[in-house]
Amino acid sequence: MPKVLKCGDVMPGCAAVLEGVDDAEVIRKATEHAKTAHKMVTVPPDVLNKVRAAIKIK
Ligand SMILES: [Zn+2]
Repeated sequence: MPKVLKCGDVMPGCAAVLEGVDDAEVIRKATEHAKTAHKMVTVPPDVLNKVRAAIKIK
């Protein structure tokens, strides 16, 4: 089931939209996006929880 994450729901002000075929792909893309766009070396567990909560069915 396709899923979508609006990064702005987790990182206010970010316009990026990350899509994937399932939660795992969206989380993987969000992790890469956080590293490149938000300069996170690692994604803290609380941010990961917010990411999971913000993922919607496309
Ligand atoms: Zn972002």
